[in-house]
Amino acid sequence: MEQDNTYDYIIAGAGCAGLSLLYHILQDPNICSKKILVIDKNLKKSNDRTWCFWENKIGPFESLVCKKWDTISVHNNNFNKELATGEYQYKMIQGIDFYNYVINAAKQYSNITWVETVITEIDQIASIGVVNWENGSAYSPFIFSSILPLDTLYRLSQGNLEIPFLWQHFKGRLVEFETAVFKPNVARLMDFNVSQHGYTGFMYILPLSDKKALVEYTLFSPKLLEEHKYDKEMDDYLAHEYNGKNYTISHTEIGAIPMTQYLIDKSKAPVYVIGTLGNAVKASTGYAFHFIQEQTQQIANQLATNKLINTEVHTTRHSFYDSILLYILQHKKMEGKVIFARIFEKNNTSTIFKFLSNTSSLFEDIKIMRSLPTRIFLPAALKVLLRRA
Ligand SMILES: Cc1cc2nc3c(=O)[nH]c(=O)nc-3n(C[C@H](O)[C@H](O)[C@H](O)COP(=O)(O)OP(=O)(O)OC[C@H]3O[C@@H](n4cnc5c(N)ncnc54)[C@H](O)[C@@H]3O)c2cc1C
Repeated sequence: MEQDNTYDYIIAGAGCAGLSLLYHILQDPNICSKKILVIDKNLKKSNDRTWCFWENKIGPFESLVCKKWDTISVHNNNFNKELATGEYQYKMIQGIDFYNYVINAAKQYSNITWVETVITEIDQIASIGVVNWENGSAYSPFIFSSILPLDTLYRLSQGNLEIPFLWQHFKGRLVEFETAVFKPNVARLMDFNVSQHGYTGFMYILPLSDKKALVEYTLFSPKLLEEHKYDKEMDDYLAHEYNGKNYTISHTEIGAIPMTQYLIDKSKAPVYVIGTLGNAVKASTGYAFHFIQEQTQQIANQLATNKLINTEVHTTRHSFYDSILLYILQHKKMEGKVIFARIFEKNNTSTIFKFLSNTSSLFEDIKIMRSLPTRIFLPAALKVLLRRA
């Protein structure tokens, strides 16, 4: 071990979680001058994803928000509801704006070293962590990894896991019509009037103007689709919904987010897992951006105050609800489209957003859970409790 390749912190994986952690570390005067190594196989240069999340305040990345909405809508058969988001706003950030913002700010710091390479192994020697790549290695007492072994996850999701595991998988396209077709102030969160493929499918439409929108076909199911099937869903939906009007496509994005509480890896000194690998994704919805911010801010605070690192962001109570919802979806105890439509029909949006942010009170939780029929909810809750016992 040489002084040259020993760091105070190593950030392995510079995507959303790695860069968020770097950002929060650099905001703290107690730790911003630490010797930090950031490694990624492909330091971000393209707009590979768009993040949406809700917030009831001005967040740290407000300057990057390219669009926000005060109204969302949910559709299922005859249920078509526009809902005011109350104290919350639904916000959108382009991945590339986020990557550029953090990377450009961090490049001003001479204490940060960037390495673009494929990490082959993360290990430890006594209490020191080691990161290996083809022609090198580096050491640190704090390694923060967000390197998700996707192949392992795909394999696990096809096996007989005791713990529910679905993929939230989708393809999106940025479309532009010649004439006005969208309501620019309404984000269509879920339109279930699409193929369900045996599980839970919906169209997600985020209008940037009355002509332009990000349109995504999304499924919660155990298996991914072939790419042309997402395209077909979008072709059919857009043709039907907007009367065959012409549009152009300027960008596409495709993704799969694991919806599970299965721990593929655990944080254990000196290697701490963050982001999707660190179970920051909310298992019942696939939303992660907000939780990644909470998780990485929490870690930066712990580093600055010499506290033990705790990467957990989901409360036990809310994790329990996530397990129940996932169980019901995976085992098809009730159709996902009926569950979500009922939740939006019977509750106001800010309570739902609070619930989904893990900040709702027990009273609010009970109200949301009562949206589901007792005959479905109770056996599922029991099943989850027995599994946990
Ligand atoms: C297309 C898409 C859209 C999404 N939209 C939303 C949204 O709207 N709202 C929301 O809340 N969440 C969303 N998510 C979920 C979640 O917010 C993102 O997946 C988020 O990027 C997860 O952050 P992460 O750091 O865990 O993973 P990533 O951002 O994927 O970062 C992991 C990094 O590790 C690097 N890496 C992997 N293997 C190696 C290796 N062997 N060596 C070196 N580097 C390696 C990768 O290059 C990557 O940069 C979306 C996900 C996707 C895929």
